[in-house]
Amino acid sequence: MDSSPPDVAVRIRGLRKVYGGLAAVDGLDLDIHHGETFALLGPNGAGKSTTVEILEGYRSRTAGDVEVLGVDPAHGGRDWKSRIGIVLQTGGETGLLTVREVLRHFAGLYPRPRDVDEVIEAVGLGAKANTRVVKLSGGQQRRVDVALGIVGRPELLFLDEPTTGFDPEARRQFWELIRSLKSEGTTILLTTHYLDEAAQLADRAGVIAGGRLLDVGGIDEIGGADARVPLVRWTDAAGEPHEERTHEPGRLVASVVDALGREPEGLEIIRPTLEDVYLGLVRTVTDLDPRSASAAGADADAEEAVA
Ligand code: ADP
Repeated sequence: MDSSPPDVAVRIRGLRKVYGGLAAVDGLDLDIHHGETFALLGPNGAGKSTTVEILEGYRSRTAGDVEVLGVDPAHGGRDWKSRIGIVLQTGGETGLLTVREVLRHFAGLYPRPRDVDEVIEAVGLGAKANTRVVKLSGGQQRRVDVALGIVGRPELLFLDEPTTGFDPEARRQFWELIRSLKSEGTTILLTTHYLDEAAQLADRAGVIAGGRLLDVGGIDEIGGADARVPLVRWTDAAGEPHEERTHEPGRLVASVVDALGREPEGLEIIRPTLEDVYLGLVRTVTDLDPRSASAAGADADAEEAVA
């Protein structure tokens, strides 16, 4: 593969990963640009974690070319590792240390770490800085994971299901944190089951299922224009429900009001959300491929991750 153009942080060409007979990633091509927040979306078993772990250098690939910050992650050395940040899906082993001690320890491993207390504040753990990590709630421990992912001031941050276990307020605080990292120029690869989170944070998204990319594009464009046509619902004079898709919902509502001579009952104008668009995209595939709909990880231990 030619080396990545300067604006490309992650370049994937023809990526394949086969576990036994199963192609978990099946010919993936994707570019992620410097400074963008990219959401990788897909149902359980789609191949998201496999792809992300290959990019992080934690998993070998069967075929294809990958460059992350200009380096093949299979050969990423210490310098390269210090430029990426990883927020793992399962809480790390942080033992009996306090939040501040854990962060100090990890900050010491990076050449240009962020200020530890600033990071603690940013993830909303200011009041818990001197608390042992084992004493924190699940959501608070998750914030420690996030803090560990960003303390090294990474150029590229991998966020795998970052807000699982957060309450709504903590999620909103976390979104603010991500926006501030983004405004500093951090490139972010996000996987999430929360489509509203992807819609809030991401510039672009890719939807994968069965190890293949179904669509990729701007967060407001993915799925194509037809998937985003507003739906108007109302009830007519005889009490019959109606619904119609139209690019001009205002005009349709005006004509309905005109015909009825009054406010229509049950009037709704529904604009498809990213979640609706996403479900429309994956439904076709999961209908055909039962593997895509199955819970991830059921057979996940046939191959160990490479260290
Ligand atoms: P996702 O992150 O989208 O849920 P994964 O990458 O975890 O998807 O899994 C993709 C497919 O590969 C699934 O069918 C999963 O069961 C399988 N798989 C994942 N890891 C392994 C492994 N270590 N050994 C065998 N199969 C695996």
